[in-house]
Amino acid sequence: MDTYMSVVCYGKDSEAAAEAAIEEIERIDALLSIESESGSVRRVNDTGSAAIDRETELIVEQALAFHSSTGGAFDITVLPLMELWGFTSGNFRVPESGEIDAALDRVGSGKLSLTNGVLSLGGAAGIDLGGIAKGYTSDRLMELLRSRGIESACVSLGGNVQCLGSKSNGSAWRCGIVHPFKKDSGEYLGIIAVKDKAVITSGAYERNFTDKASGKLYHHIIDPKSGYPAESDLSSVTIVSQSGILADALSTACYIMGLEGAIEYWRSGAQSFEMILMSSDGSKVYVTPALADAFSTDCMLEIISQG
Ligand code: ADP
Ligand code: MG
Repeated sequence: MDTYMSVVCYGKDSEAAAEAAIEEIERIDALLSIESESGSVRRVNDTGSAAIDRETELIVEQALAFHSSTGGAFDITVLPLMELWGFTSGNFRVPESGEIDAALDRVGSGKLSLTNGVLSLGGAAGIDLGGIAKGYTSDRLMELLRSRGIESACVSLGGNVQCLGSKSNGSAWRCGIVHPFKKDSGEYLGIIAVKDKAVITSGAYERNFTDKASGKLYHHIIDPKSGYPAESDLSSVTIVSQSGILADALSTACYIMGLEGAIEYWRSGAQSFEMILMSSDGSKVYVTPALADAFSTDCMLEIISQG
């Protein structure tokens, strides 16, 4: 998954459980990565239509549900755009608008059809599960560790955290959320105390490049409507949920929706989740009421009203 990971667990045979967790991370990475020769995703992208394994099928089904629930903000068919901007190869560049239009013609979850375990990509589409894979993985790790009798664990997949139970002393896990403008000094935007939750963050600071000509920063969260990196009035979106896959999909989607859109979406009750948002200039942090007591920050804080 191209990032640092850590697995901490307590209990009987915890070391063997942690080893099994690492194997599970590698298995899922091989299944879902766009590069992996052995996985279904690569096969579908290469051939345009292929039988996919049941596990990938279930993930794609959930991705499609998040696509419709978020009004299209979450869209696994952004692959042609990820390629065009160089995020898949590392050869970053700012495309011409004609190239964006051509890539956009190949984007849209409506181009996917899934029948009897066969995934077909219409219109030269391609899929990238990068917006959901880490959350899915941490969900699986919780199940695996629980089934091995572990009652206390915390995994971090590139800063996306999911905790099982509480700390070994019974107190809540304390997850620090990276401050988008102070990450080099290791400062946090805030700390959230949780038990049995995923705490997953999206922000423009994670993978990006600066265009030499304009000095403008381009990042890897793509607005599927414009074809450009999302011009968000948020710098960081953290979703807190029992479900890792939901938290991962919605952190990406709410970043694209922006402050008002994310709040409206939360209020709509379309999905049940809690969130912590930071404004694009870093001046203000917003938190949903249910998290307020468990969240501490030195930033100016506003509790989002139920509306
Ligand atoms: P990270 O993986 O760095 O924590 P995200 O969860 O926000 O960050 O996922 C960003 C990744 O999701 C991108 O690298 C890309 O693979 C994919 N992606 C980008 N834009 C979208 C989008 N609009 N919908 C779904 N996936 C996306
Ligand atoms: Mg995500």
